[in-house]
Amino acid sequence: MRILVLGGGGFIGGHLTTKLHREGHYVVPVDIKNEPDYPNEFHRYIRADLRDPYIVNSIMKNIDREPWDEIYQLAADMGGAEYIFSGENDANVMHNSALINLNVAKAVVAYAPTAKLFFSSSACVYCEDPDNPFCHEDSAYPAEPDSAYGWEKLFSENMYAAAQRNYKLDVRVARFHNIFGPKGTWRGGKEKAPAAIMRKIAEASEHDIIDVFGAGTQTRSFLHIDECLEGVLRLMRADKSYPPTNIGSDEMVSINTLVWMVAGIAGKQIKTRHVDGPLGVNGRCSDNRLIQERLGWRPNEALEAGLRKTYPWIEEQVKSWKS
Ligand code: NAD
Repeated sequence: MRILVLGGGGFIGGHLTTKLHREGHYVVPVDIKNEPDYPNEFHRYIRADLRDPYIVNSIMKNIDREPWDEIYQLAADMGGAEYIFSGENDANVMHNSALINLNVAKAVVAYAPTAKLFFSSSACVYCEDPDNPFCHEDSAYPAEPDSAYGWEKLFSENMYAAAQRNYKLDVRVARFHNIFGPKGTWRGGKEKAPAAIMRKIAEASEHDIIDVFGAGTQTRSFLHIDECLEGVLRLMRADKSYPPTNIGSDEMVSINTLVWMVAGIAGKQIKTRHVDGPLGVNGRCSDNRLIQERLGWRPNEALEAGLRKTYPWIEEQVKSWKS
């Protein structure tokens, strides 16, 4: 197949590009980064700003003059809690990601209407329900996301659904819940909780104290990248399109438990200091009943197994960064 991965220089897009390439497909990652975060084993890498409609049109139109079979739209202006929940980046997050999605939807309709189109939405579309942290897909409405990032995802989900209704596009939408793994952003302010905690613990000496935002009692579920990709490909290769579907783990843990698990894997005794910082909602976890019903599959790897596959990579980054 001929496959386009928009945002293919990033974390999930990079893993996806590598996987599809190894399966034998012709895969073209596109990203605003000069270089992908990955060894460039791909047929081709396009450096492009997808906020520019002319560029998006030309990418959709006629690379090698053959139609795309699959398009994965993962490009977004995003990051972890410090980036998304501080409020300081809201205008850019909404503007940049909405522009990308507006351009992509229009260009696919015009130039690649037969391609299957994947869009990566997020658990951030859900509002907080203090009585039930499990996010069933239907609970996204009435809508009240707690971040500009979540509102943009909801807008784009609806825009792609409209394109599907009006132009018969084949659109597949996943709502990712905290994906982590090797090669994810691990420092610089855009990293997410598992990478931030693994980095702090990798940097710490025995009995050191690490900072944790808030009381650490806020709960989340985290999904390793391998399971995420399995879910994405099952959704894309399913014989029909479904409304947005969660791809996440239903193993809910508090941030304090996450620290404790990582410290155990690192073999270090670590203490925590609770500091002010952006927290996001108090509790959130993937409800996996619909993915099971729709695809006959749900993520099932234990969190600890995923952390064990990721910690050595973070440790290595910390060592080479410090040396
Ligand atoms: P990422 O930041 O590593 O990847 C996004 C990529 O988009 C980056 O490489 C970035 O350079 C690229 N990009 C941004 N602006 C661009 C532009 N104007 N033109 C071209 N490329 C541009 O993030 P990720 O974790 O790989 O996330 C991929 C997708 O999944 C995003 O849409 C994100 O919102 C969504 N998502 C991720 C998670 C998660 O836990 N990682 C959770 C929910 C949703």
